[in-house]
Formats: sequence, C-alpha cells, structure tokens
Amino acid sequence: MPELPEVETVRRGLAPAMLGQRLDEVEVRRPDLRFAFPQNFARRLTGRTVTSLGRRAKYLVADLDDGEALVMHLGMSGSFRIKGEVAGRFHHARSRLSAHDHVVFRLGGTTITYNDPRRFGFMLLLPRAELADHPFFAHLGLEPLGNELSAASLAGLFRGKATSLKAALLDQRLIAGIGNIYACEALHRSGLSPFRAAGTMATKSGKPAVRAERLAQAVRAVLTEAVAAGGSSLRDHAQTNGELGYFQHTFRVYDREHAACPTPGCRGTVKRVAQNGRSTFFCPVCQT
Ligand SMILES: [Zn+2]
Repeated sequence: MPELPEVETVRRGLAPAMLGQRLDEVEVRRPDLRFAFPQNFARRLTGRTVTSLGRRAKYLVADLDDGEALVMHLGMSGSFRIKGEVAGRFHHARSRLSAHDHVVFRLGGTTITYNDPRRFGFMLLLPRAELADHPFFAHLGLEPLGNELSAASLAGLFRGKATSLKAALLDQRLIAGIGNIYACEALHRSGLSPFRAAGTMATKSGKPAVRAERLAQAVRAVLTEAVAAGGSSLRDHAQTNGELGYFQHTFRVYDREHAACPTPGCRGTVKRVAQNGRSTFFCPVCQT
C-alpha cells in the first residue's frame, strides 16, 4: 500500500504535468473503482484547468478553475503513468497490464493514466469549499509532514491516553497519514517502545516530555527522508526509462525480523509481534 511519502512523491511527479494545464479529454473505462465514479465525471472535468495540486494525508487534491476539487486516492495498488513514465514507486510491483488502466487524462500533449489492479483507489469530485466537511476529511488529524507536528502538539494529542504509542501514531484522527511502516521506523529512531502508553508524551502538568521532542523529530525525519528517496527514484526513473521496481528505501526495523538492531552500540535483535492486528517491528533492548 502506498504510504504518505509515496503519495507525496506521486504528487510531485504529477504536478509538472497537471499544474496550469487544461483537461482536454477524460476517459473513464469502468463505472467504479472502490466507489462509483461521480455522476458525469468525465464531462464535468473536461475543459477545466488544474490550478493547484495538493495533498492531505493520503488524498491528492487537484483544484479546478470552476471551484471544484478532484480528489484522488491510490488505495492499495493505484498508480499514475505519465506518457509511459510512472509517477511514484511502490512497495508492490506495479501492474503494466492495460486492462487495469481505468482513467485516462489528456492535458495538452500529456497523457496521464491511472492504473489500479485491486481497485481500492477512488476519485471524488466536489466543491472545494465543501472539502473540509466531507466525511473523509472532517476527522483527519494533523499533517505529519507540515509544521503542525511538534513535541507540544504530540503532548497535547496524546495526553492522558493509556493506549499504546504505536496505536496512537496510527490513529488517523490524531495524526493523518502515518502508516505501519513509518510508525515502526519513527519509534525505533526515537528509542521509544511501541507498547509504552501514549500519555507519557506529556508530563503531569501537560507539558511535552523530552521524549515527545525525540518522537516528533523522528517522525518528521523518517517521512522527509522517504519523500527525498522517492523524489530521487522519480528522477532516476524519468532519466533511465527503467522498469518500475519497489520503493528504493531501506528500513531500519520494518520487515527486518531477526536482523541485528542498527542502533549504534545496541546488541539487540529486531523482533516482530502482532499489535492491534498489525506487525510491529522493534528492538526490545534500545526501545524503552
Ligand atoms: Zn536496539
């Protein structure tokens, strides 16, 4: 599943092809993905110009010149191809089968194709002014790649919570867009146990604990580095026209069960346990 850094990579890959461009033709090849396409989807998009391309959590939001917003979610296996090039790299192999090409946008001389074998992705079209109140957006927590994430905001969000730190990081109503991989990575990097109570990010008086600063920095770092890696893989891909592979990113603990802990001086071994139905990878020695 594409995680937040990959969606941001896709946004950066699509932006040059879409920004300021007019949607000359939109072809929709099936009635639905995860949900039915909006009524008259292609007709409502045709002739519109894309005025901005943003991202909120894992939603791509293209603002159009008529005040509507095109919302695109990649689901489990969605990806975009620009004129035969691909925007974004994924943990899963991307399908090359044209049978999975479901939407084609033509803007000037550029063709952007949305491909999605499992069809968990979806597209919405709604007035921009109503976006914040839409059920998908209304309850989203703060944006972890922006400036909102800090020791103080973590302490405020997690204060008094007995739930585990890992579960709190994955709660989209608190922070929007951190998935299992980056939660594991951020906890390892900050030296914090995934099982620790989330409330320990705040002191008794509600001020941010020192460890909250470590966690805020770690979350920002793992996401920013992953976006940077995605950006470089995007450039490499455009240059070499190579086959799309897996996200070229090495994780410190995620999917590394039994590996030696990469923390300098730590003699621990990476363990994997099931936690709230997800795999948690962590080092029981240096994460406390
Ligand atoms: Zn360790």
